[in-house]
Amino acid sequence: MTRVYNFSPGPAMLPEPVLRQAQAELLDWRGTGMSVMEMSHRSEAFRSIATSAEMTLRELMAIPEHYRILFLQGGATGQFAAVPLNLAGDGGRADYVDTGQWSKKAIQEARRYVEVNVVASTAATGYHSVPPQSEWQVDPGALYLHYTPNETIGGVEFHWVPEVGDTPLVADMSSTILSRPLDVSRFGIIYAGAQKNIGPAGLTVVIVRDDLIGRADSRAPAVLDYKLQADAESLYNTPPAMAWYVAGLVFDWIKGQGGLPGLAERNQRKAQILYSTIDGSDFYQSPVDRECRSWMNVPFTLAESALDKTFLEKAEEAGLVALKGHRSVGGMRASIYNAMPEEGVVALATFMKDFEERHG
Ligand SMILES: *Cc1c(COP(=O)(O)O)cnc(C)c1O
Repeated sequence: MTRVYNFSPGPAMLPEPVLRQAQAELLDWRGTGMSVMEMSHRSEAFRSIATSAEMTLRELMAIPEHYRILFLQGGATGQFAAVPLNLAGDGGRADYVDTGQWSKKAIQEARRYVEVNVVASTAATGYHSVPPQSEWQVDPGALYLHYTPNETIGGVEFHWVPEVGDTPLVADMSSTILSRPLDVSRFGIIYAGAQKNIGPAGLTVVIVRDDLIGRADSRAPAVLDYKLQADAESLYNTPPAMAWYVAGLVFDWIKGQGGLPGLAERNQRKAQILYSTIDGSDFYQSPVDRECRSWMNVPFTLAESALDKTFLEKAEEAGLVALKGHRSVGGMRASIYNAMPEEGVVALATFMKDFEERHG
């Protein structure tokens, strides 16, 4: 068996020890005689899996007591609707920062339920930067402010948390959650689709402050209603049980890696290896402003786009896969989430230097 270094933006690599443990427990989860996929979600066994995952996540992120953790479905895209439906019961106004393709999608969906005020947008300059907060045009009557701390497609990341006073701050952290320590108390809601840094697709983690629960629009789908789900401990209906279980294994793995401080150190180093390879050459270029380059998604272009195809073919032969950039950006993109080993990043940097020597 050969496993490749998979630079996919999501679903992304999972830590090998997690896959091995899931494999070992697949047919018989700890003496129950069945797999997690076959268990009742109301059983003692599944409840212990669910509770343990939640407790480990709470510990890893130091999530305060007055926040609930929900394990839902519908992806981050489901939350694009769930956020306005839960926070703006009777309609109203909300602030959004537009820094890339995912912000744009969140805004489009929110417009179905609330009046959206775009406080700042970098669309006109091609989404290569983070707009300074001093330039934001906030609405004093906004029910919340939404932003995307890491734009997975553009590779643009906020390396600071906005100051929004009493306005609840809502963050789509799909591609940056668990990459470093975070002060959760600065946020009203944090949500993330699992398939980047948490576990298998199908699970969506929502961390929501108590006072923001129970304000939902009466037409909100029950499965997206934070109060119904919080009261039911995320078991209002059948949860994505297998994904929840694997997420728990990932949380245990993170603990073993020195928690979020340990991962932050490694993630920063991994990103640095790629950015210094790009900056140290005339052949590769990063389209993103230096102060907001992502630790998780590293887009880059080659001096001649005619070489893109050869680059991708040769990379694949070297066991470095899924490097093709998003169609809206072109070029390449290396997604280097928590589970990408440092050796994978070093292998890519070595390949890039070698490719430049041959074709540059
Ligand atoms: C992947 C991603 C999404 C979409 O997630 P789904 O789970 O597919 O809905 C939304 N926002 C960001 C920042 C992402 O990286």
